[in-house]
Amino acid sequence: MPIDATAPYDDQNVFAKILRREIPAATVYEDDYALAFNDITPQAPAHILVIPKGPYVSWDDFSARGSDAEIAGFVRAVGTVARAAGLVAPGYRLLANIGAHGGQEVAHLHVHILAGRPLGPMVAR
Ligand code: AMP
Repeated sequence: MPIDATAPYDDQNVFAKILRREIPAATVYEDDYALAFNDITPQAPAHILVIPKGPYVSWDDFSARGSDAEIAGFVRAVGTVARAAGLVAPGYRLLANIGAHGGQEVAHLHVHILAGRPLGPMVAR
């Protein structure tokens, strides 16, 4: 069920629980600004989610309310994760779903890193 990207942050979302270590995740990277873990339902041979540590609903919320340090730290973390996974040479796709039409299901900003095969058209036609 897609979320309402204009709703206030709800700290009971599944990624907030992962950040609090209330539920496990297959973590691949962590720093002061970001946590990265494997998607539980991978849609490509490599499917990593990168989330900011702060309470942001979506890319929209983060870009409006995130501090310069948080935004810089998060963007650098996404690049670091992709480089560490060896994805730059073969290539990869970044995806952030926002709200209903974006198909966002978890109300904590996450960037999908998808890779490991040619990923085909950017969106379903
Ligand atoms: P989105 O549709 O952009 O909100 O994507 C949510 C993603 O979170 C989906 O790809 C799910 O497979 C993934 N997901 C949901 N719960 C978990 C979890 N506990 N651990 C890892 N990935 C999850």
